[in-house]
Amino acid sequence: MPRKPLRPCGYSGCPNLTEGTYCAEHKKLTDKQYNRFQRDKVVESIYNSREWKELRRKKLGINPICECCFEKGRIIKATMVDHIVPIKQGGAAFDMNNLQSLCQSCHSSKSAKEGSRWGKR
Ligand SMILES: [Zn+2]
Ligand SMILES: [Zn+2]
Repeated sequence: MPRKPLRPCGYSGCPNLTEGTYCAEHKKLTDKQYNRFQRDKVVESIYNSREWKELRRKKLGINPICECCFEKGRIIKATMVDHIVPIKQGGAAFDMNNLQSLCQSCHSSKSAKEGSRWGKR
């Protein structure tokens, strides 16, 4: 039986050799990333739920104007409903008090900010 050839760890820049895809150290790391992926799945399933779609519609009915722009004295029609505390950070998904109506541009600048904050961890 030929031995399985050792290959370099699939993590870029890692000099360790392994029989699998990653060395022991990086396998742990990719498992963690997998967990994060699972969490994304949970968030996705919330956004796809009927409960969320109804809540979202209700919120836009109550606050049809971007709350962020409104604070700056601009009246812009809101198209999205955003979680003030993101679900991924433990924010309540179905709590009206954790929701804000946003326009497309405010929403994308907010998620860009969140993205960079999360990227540092
Ligand atoms: Zn490695
Ligand atoms: Zn806005």
